Amino acid sequence: KKVLLKVDQLKQYFPIKGGFFGRTVNHVKAVDDISFHIYQGETLSIVGESGCGKSTTGRAILRLDQPTSGQIHFQGKDLLRLGKKDMRRTRKDLQVIFQDPFASLNPRQTIGQILGEALAIQNVVPKENRRGRIEELLGHVGLRPESLERYPHEFSGGQRQRIGIARALAVDPKLIICDEAVSALDVSIQAQVLNLLKKLQRQFELTFLFISHDLGVVRHISDRVMVMYLGKIVEIADKKSIFEQPQHPYTRALLSAIPVPNPVQERERILLTGDVPSPIDPPNGCRFHTRCPFVMDICKTKAPELKRSTQNHQVACHIVS
Ligand code: SF4
Ligand code: MG
Repeated sequence: KKVLLKVDQLKQYFPIKGGFFGRTVNHVKAVDDISFHIYQGETLSIVGESGCGKSTTGRAILRLDQPTSGQIHFQGKDLLRLGKKDMRRTRKDLQVIFQDPFASLNPRQTIGQILGEALAIQNVVPKENRRGRIEELLGHVGLRPESLERYPHEFSGGQRQRIGIARALAVDPKLIICDEAVSALDVSIQAQVLNLLKKLQRQFELTFLFISHDLGVVRHISDRVMVMYLGKIVEIADKKSIFEQPQHPYTRALLSAIPVPNPVQERERILLTGDVPSPIDPPNGCRFHTRCPFVMDICKTKAPELKRSTQNHQVACHIVS
């Protein structure tokens, strides 16, 4: 399997200003030294509660924020060290679909104008061929060609998300980051949009980084799953292992909170208590220790490293080895 994107020791700290002089008094450690990779053609999901750093990771890859440190290699090039011109060229290979399609579509533009703009920015299709290309894109996402004359408010939430997908697809990307892309939709519409994404993935050899707090959705779409907690990766494995043999207490707690499809496999349930601590001053040692039912002395002082437990399964916990 070929690695498309490789993230090494990524840190994203956001300064907190304070005092009379607006000095930096502290940092939010939104992402704190994470390394992982995405294989070409797969769907890797990032899951975790809000504030765990999953969106921040996506934004760093898109270079919407400049990371504090680390490397992000995409097709062999370090994105964080690309000049403006090279980044612009690479930008078309990296697209994003956000949660709220309406917020990211200009209400005064027709769908034709919105998609036409996406094509114009990257100049991927000569002007005279753009209308045909837009009709083709609408077809790919299951919308009628006449849709291009209409405005975003004339569409349902699911249809608007299809427009968002068409816009991402317009420039022929390699990696699409879906940040809570179906979270605002009804469950039945979610399934349709997820199935559409899967179809497009096969058709155009797309790779997805799928960011979601919803394990049901993640179960539907993923090949592999990465679980984050307070800026750290706590577990990464293929989907089957995550759902059937979760090893990290936090992953097990997340799974305990969703209905088990097969009662025979009913696991020992772990209930999450307390709130996620502040990412400004995260707990020492294992960041999950303040909420972990298995906490030991060592957990309070020594941070567990992400280690391979079995083939394709990595866990950061002192009790798993
Ligand atoms: Fe719990 Fe310790 Fe494992 Fe952290 S390292 S998850 S506190 S057992
Ligand atoms: Mg988010």
